[in-house]
Amino acid sequence: MSSQPLSPNNFRDLFDSVEAFLFDCDGVIWKGDELIHGVPETLQMLRSKGKKLVFVTNNSWKSRSQYAQKFQSLGISVSQDEIFSSSFAAAMYLKVNEFPSQNKVYVIGGEGILEELRLAGITAFGGPDDANKTIDLKQNWFVEHDKSVGAVVVAQILIPLDDPVLNINKVAGYLQRHFIEGIVDKGVNEGVAVVSYYDISMSSNRYGTLCIRENPGCLFIATNRDAVGHMTALQEWPGAGCMVAAICGSTQKEPVVVGKPSTFMMEFLLKKFNVSCSKMCMVGDRLDTDILFGQNAGCKTLLVLSVLDLSFFYQFGSSVAKLFGLSIHNLSSLSSTRRVHKF
Ligand code: PLP
Ligand code: CA
Repeated sequence: MSSQPLSPNNFRDLFDSVEAFLFDCDGVIWKGDELIHGVPETLQMLRSKGKKLVFVTNNSWKSRSQYAQKFQSLGISVSQDEIFSSSFAAAMYLKVNEFPSQNKVYVIGGEGILEELRLAGITAFGGPDDANKTIDLKQNWFVEHDKSVGAVVVAQILIPLDDPVLNINKVAGYLQRHFIEGIVDKGVNEGVAVVSYYDISMSSNRYGTLCIRENPGCLFIATNRDAVGHMTALQEWPGAGCMVAAICGSTQKEPVVVGKPSTFMMEFLLKKFNVSCSKMCMVGDRLDTDILFGQNAGCKTLLVLSVLDLSFFYQFGSSVAKLFGLSIHNLSSLSSTRRVHKF
């Protein structure tokens, strides 16, 4: 497969041959809570030329309607139908596989997953409240788990900063104080990742592990296995990959992954938008999720370099170029071909 930096010439070819652009969100549309420069103009230009737009995020914390609100708050109008989050993918996976209505789903993850499951008519429990539970060991040494749990969905655990003092204390061992203060200032609505042995062994992971190990046929579903993600534009945080790995370790089982790069979400997109893969282009910032997602389905791919820093790209430039589809240096290149970065 050939690969090249975007130039005025090949941009025209790409533009003419693509009917639908699939955008990764974090690192392409926004970084944490900040909009990336040039995005509204680019999206508006693509819409005005009749291109279909789809937004595909592995971040499962929010539901599609919550993402639509996030777009709105950043000044971009996006319909809920154009959004494919891994929270939605988890619900759709269960629906497509005819999850029995008498069974329940246990969620190690965010509100968005609970909401999407509820909208799909599936009974679910767990979520952030369980992850944040204070366990009294004397009372909870033995945990009775619900035998009707037929699936455990594992995602990232974030705890909303509605109690900043408690949460700062919890993460203090992991992070520099000044960084936490930055998060509290900037990311109050986004939350903080709290991953400690205490959480893993005592609260939701303990419960999820019991269900997967002891309920016959219980599914183990991962929204994604991303190594890291952004809460704010400041710095990366451990992603769902670390929570999924914890459950793999305790259950000795491998999950079904429904987010990128698995092709599960793509099947929905294709049905919904009625576009052939060769006329779609996946725009992403990560090779191991976004670009692979596009390539697994036979789409064109564009790599933006908002996360990979340039030194990495220079170092691996030629092999990246050989392995993956077209690459561009940042999204503003799409809206202004004059600003294409030279290798
Ligand atoms: N997982 C977590 C926990 C995140 O915070 C993010 C981005 O913010 C992601 C995954 C990746 O999201 P996306 O697929 O939009 O890049
Ligand atoms: Ca991304």
